[in-house]
Amino acid sequence: MTSARHDGKTIHDLVGVGFGPSNLALAVAIEEHNTLAAPEHRVDALFLEKQQTFGWHRGMLVDGATMQVSFLKDLATMRNPTSDFSFVAYLHSIDRLVDFVNHKVFFPLRAEFHGYLEWAAARVAHQVRYAAEVLAIEPVVTDGRITAFDVTVANDPVVHRARNVVLAPGLSPHLPDGVGITTRVWHNSRLVPNVADLDPADVRTAVVVGAGQSAAESADYLHRRFPEAQIHAVFSRYGYSPADDSPFANRIFDPAAVDHYFEAPDQVKRQLTDYHRNTNYSVVDGDLIEELYRRVYEERVRGRQRLYIRHATRVVEVREDPEAAHVDVEFLPTGKTETLRADVVVYATGYRPGDGLALLGDTARACARDEYGRPRLGRDYRVVTEPPLDAGIYLQGGTEHTHGLGSTLLSNIAVRAGEILASINEHTASDPAPEAETDATSRAGTGADLASGPVTSSRQG
Ligand SMILES: Cc1cc2nc3c(=O)[nH]c(=O)nc-3n(C[C@H](O)[C@H](O)[C@H](O)COP(=O)(O)OP(=O)(O)OC[C@H]3O[C@@H](n4cnc5c(N)ncnc54)[C@H](O)[C@@H]3O)c2cc1C
Repeated sequence: MTSARHDGKTIHDLVGVGFGPSNLALAVAIEEHNTLAAPEHRVDALFLEKQQTFGWHRGMLVDGATMQVSFLKDLATMRNPTSDFSFVAYLHSIDRLVDFVNHKVFFPLRAEFHGYLEWAAARVAHQVRYAAEVLAIEPVVTDGRITAFDVTVANDPVVHRARNVVLAPGLSPHLPDGVGITTRVWHNSRLVPNVADLDPADVRTAVVVGAGQSAAESADYLHRRFPEAQIHAVFSRYGYSPADDSPFANRIFDPAAVDHYFEAPDQVKRQLTDYHRNTNYSVVDGDLIEELYRRVYEERVRGRQRLYIRHATRVVEVREDPEAAHVDVEFLPTGKTETLRADVVVYATGYRPGDGLALLGDTARACARDEYGRPRLGRDYRVVTEPPLDAGIYLQGGTEHTHGLGSTLLSNIAVRAGEILASINEHTASDPAPEAETDATSRAGTGADLASGPVTSSRQG
């Protein structure tokens, strides 16, 4: 299982694309496996991350923001409760465990969890290359079968060859059609650095668009950071809706729920997702809703209103001139419109899972799809290919249609990492080893190559 080196080229057991919490959890699982495994059974992994250093949604590391998942759902505990990569082990290592226990908190600060993730990432740094944006993944064909992948990184002539790729590109910021980023118009994913660049005296009015957690956090943050400014929170709901984090509903994120969801017929999958969307989508932590309401009320008492919750309202148009953005908003019940002059407009309009398979180029044609064009996966997160390949493609994230609501969250990253590692180990034991093909011309990176080989298009699933 250790990497083979042929003609100067290493064949990794796996290359991971992206190094957020999902692939970090996998790196931790590999580290623990390698510590116990005989040398020939160790897994050689390389993770490629486009950021310069480890960072988990840094643009939203708002002071005071807390985790929305228990600290016990860290990188390892749910898979291995005795792991020394746990959040508790982190606290112990920095001599803060006793203070944390006295704090009696289940949902730590996001900044604190970020510190934990950085600590874990530093301990597996030998598995990671930063400033390494993956541009393409091309198949390596041996005797007409795809046995490995060559992974190309921006500004790097070295191609990384692997028997498996684990794609974890995470979430990408989403903006409504027609909205573009400018110096005044942002997505919330850049909130903290963009606010830091502004002189509070220059901000008289800010508009936040959206009704989810990030929108409420953005409104709260701008209201605190710009103490003289008016903040307008614009959304079409009548009020912010609370996230359902009650114990029975929370079971939808259990490891067992992944089994249930995976096995369920499509109609039951849809039903479960619809019932429990309000655990995650377009909902806000109850304490934050109470806090925002308290502030609005206090301002009314004091007769100086700054925080405006513009409910049942939609943004019709945003125009910009050198002085300001002009936001036309419509109050939906009456159709009445008015224009807000804004120094800053923050779109907190969500994220979409990145499409890892897009990196696969022509190989993506071998990935089986369902009737909606979504990739078909095994329970082990391995993409189903037609015909089966001797090399594995695994997805972390973007699997809500097969593995349920926790797919883009932290809830199951520890257990999922263990399942993917077990699958890779099983396949490595049974699949033939790839040949080392160091000559670039031997890679089947073109449609013509694939068409002449055994791989057929299966887009229709
Ligand atoms: C502000 C915010 C707060 C959140 N809080 C919580 C929470 O409290 N609890 C919870 O369960 N979930 C939370 N989430 C959900 C979030 O999806 C997960 O926390 C987590 O980020 C998922 O980890 P990931 O590794 O799959 O994706 P990401 O964290 O997005 O990491 C993906 C990584 O891949 C890299 N990458 C992408 N493309 C390439 C490429 N081509 N080449 C190289 N690198 C690439 C990116 O730079 C990134 O570092 C939150 C999300 C946001 C936006």
